[in-house]
Amino acid sequence: MSDTVRTWRHIQQRYNLIGSKCNTCGEVFFPSRVVCPNCRRKGDLEPFQFSGKGKIYTYSVIRSAPDDFKKSAPYAVAVIELEEGAKLTTQLVDCDVDSLEIGDDVEMVFRRVREDGEDGVISYGYKFKVIK
Ligand SMILES: [Zn+2]
Repeated sequence: MSDTVRTWRHIQQRYNLIGSKCNTCGEVFFPSRVVCPNCRRKGDLEPFQFSGKGKIYTYSVIRSAPDDFKKSAPYAVAVIELEEGAKLTTQLVDCDVDSLEIGDDVEMVFRRVREDGEDGVISYGYKFKVIK
């Protein structure tokens, strides 16, 4: 695989929440995997597009943030259980960190994740927000 293809694939996964699904056992994975941990060599993995909807499985509120994130503190980092079953860790945005509850419905949004000064690198990635 060329670097260009690899990078493109990485971007695709990052922007579209693409993981993989095993056609043998039916389990879905995010990030995507090359080998199904359940089926090993009998596994049959193919790319799988997640809906971007899920629920808060667990979360913690960061009040003492590292320097790069000081401006956004307090913020919540949550493990999201996607509708389709896979779990991922992400930052919750647009929410009152004191009113979060396990089981709250969330959906994926795109946000600027980092900005290093005026001419710095800006990148975007998925985060999740609570739907009430
Ligand atoms: Zn499998």
